[in-house]
Order: sequence, then C-alpha cells, then structure tokens
Amino acid sequence: MYKIAVIPGDGIGKEVMEGAIDVLEGTGVEFSFTYENAGDECLKDCGYALPDDTLALAKKSDAVLFGAAGETAADVIVRLRQELDLYANLRPVKSYPGTNAIFQDIDFMIVRENTEGMYIGVESENKDGATAKRLITHKASQKICDYAFKYAITTGRKRVTGVHKANVLKITDGLFKKTFYEVAEKYDTIESNDYYVDATAMYLLTKPQFFDVIVTTNLYGDILSDEGAGIVGGLGLIPSANIGDKGALFEPVHGSAPDIAGQSKANPIAMILSAKMMLEFLGENESAKAIDEAVLKVITQKNILTPDMGGNSTTKDLAKSIKNNL
Ligand code: ATP
Ligand code: MG
Repeated sequence: MYKIAVIPGDGIGKEVMEGAIDVLEGTGVEFSFTYENAGDECLKDCGYALPDDTLALAKKSDAVLFGAAGETAADVIVRLRQELDLYANLRPVKSYPGTNAIFQDIDFMIVRENTEGMYIGVESENKDGATAKRLITHKASQKICDYAFKYAITTGRKRVTGVHKANVLKITDGLFKKTFYEVAEKYDTIESNDYYVDATAMYLLTKPQFFDVIVTTNLYGDILSDEGAGIVGGLGLIPSANIGDKGALFEPVHGSAPDIAGQSKANPIAMILSAKMMLEFLGENESAKAIDEAVLKVITQKNILTPDMGGNSTTKDLAKSIKNNL
C-alpha cells in the first residue's frame, strides 16, 4: 500500500486531479490517498500558500501528486522542490498521432537540474541596475548528469546530450560541460554529445528526432521544455516528475489555467501521465504501461476528447474513458 499525498491546488488542478485519481484507482495498485491544501485559495482561507501540515504530509509520503498553484506557484511548488530536495526535473516530450503536434515522431526526455543555476533567487539592485547570481556546483552537476545517464540505461535510451553555453559562460557552464563528460566516461554503452543551448533551441525545430535524453541546467531546461511542449501539441499533454533521493513529486507542466477553470474543459491527460510517471517511480511498471496504452488508444479513437484537442467531452468523461481502456 503506497502512501500518496494529494495536493490538487487551484483552478483546473482540482479537476484534472480528480480524473487522475479515478484512473489510478482503475489500475488495481493499492494506494492510500491523503488530501491537503496549497495555493492561492489556501492562502485566502488559512493565511498560508503552503501550510506546515501540507509540507509535513508531503515529506512523510511515498510520493506527492500535485495539481497546480496560481499566483502563489513560487511559494508552493518551488518551495516544495527545495524542501524535499527534488534535484531532478523530468519532462518527457512525446508526440501522439493525430494531435496537433508539429512533428509526429518525437520521443525524448529533458532532465533538468532543479536546485541551483539561475533559480537560487539571489538578486540585488544598485544605482546602475540589477544583478542575478547563478550557481553551478560540481556536486549538483555530477548528480544530475549521473541521473540522466542512469535514466538512459534503465529506459533503453541510446544517447545523452549535455546542453550549456560554455563558450560565453566559461566558468559556470564550463564546469557543467566538464562534469558532463566526466560522468559520460563511466557509461560507455551510452552515446554522449554536447550542444550550446541556442543551437539546441534551433535543433528542436529542425531535427527534434535526434534527441533522446537532454540534460541541462535549471533555466535552460525550463525554457527548452516549454519549447518541447509547443512542438508536440500543447500544455494539456505534458506531465513532469520532480525526483529526489528521499521523495518525489509529480505534476502537469501546465498551471491553474484560470481562463478555463470550473468549466470541465481541462484536458486531464498531463495529470494522468504525471500519475503514470509516479507508478514508474514506485516500480509499478506494468500499470504505468497500461495507462500509457490507454491514453494512446483514447487519443487515436478520437471520440472522447477535450476542446483543446478538438473534441467536446468533459474532463471527467475523458478520464473515465482512459480508465475504461486500462
Ligand atoms: P498559471 O499562472 O497557473 O500558470 P496560466 O494562466 O499561465 O496559469 P496555464 O495553466 O499555464 O495558465 O495555461 C496556459 C494556457 O494553456 C491557458 O490558455 C490554458 O487554458 C491552456 N491550458 C493549460 N492547461 C490546459 C489543460 N490541461 N487543458 C486545456 N487547456 C490547458
Ligand atoms: Mg502558466
């Protein structure tokens, strides 16, 4: 029995979470779900965007399922990543047939460093302007590169591409690049290469099929994964995992989408695929595969889809249909 912390949060977070829990219950794997609050609404109701009880629950669970937080995202999700030391952010970029993906044959994984880089929040102002510090350590670089190569081995991927800008940021990105190749040497069955981040942004549009696993620093990973979402048909389809040594959190890449919240229009697939990544993390690979296949089936059958995919079904009906196809 797995202990899962469920934090639906704001807006469509609640709606897509309901769908994902429904699908998880259809897998036959045994879970005990405990719900807690976080986000904008929670701040209004209790004075905290991330209450201590929610943080404590997240820390003692086997895994966390997270929906979305609106304006308070930095106080909720960025803090959860730090508090749980979730150093690896995994964002799969995969195209499904028949969707409005720009390319139909894409399947790669972005492994983003999640604890340092441009996101340490050390900014200052002086009379001339402002400065942001960017931290790259050997330890964190080694840990994330090692994670990427191990991931490649366990999932049967063939190549890991290290992405940086070491020609300009010679010291910080120079260290990341050097560490990448230091780690690559230990994994002689996996091909390795490196690209500059600007070139990578272009290659994602000109030869996205080249990529298998990308490993990169925090900000580059953030930007490239949104580009990835763009080339495979939008935010409603992209899940993510935040992994640490002692815990993990799974969330869709999209936010609370206030423009469609409360209208049963949200696509639950990003959240359902996040739950699938949780099953993989827990070692429940057969159930994860069953969800993957059910999602593919429902997308290709085309009769039950949410408006973002050109259908007119509700969040609940799409989730139910995936559950029925397990
Ligand atoms: P937040 O501040 O919480 O990130 P946002 O306004 O940036 O909210 P996002 O959730 O990031 O909104 O979504 C951006 C756009 O993509 C919105 O127009 C939204 O309706 C659409 N969108 C996001 N997620 C989904 C989904 N699951 N299903 C359908 N449309 C979605
Ligand atoms: Mg957003």
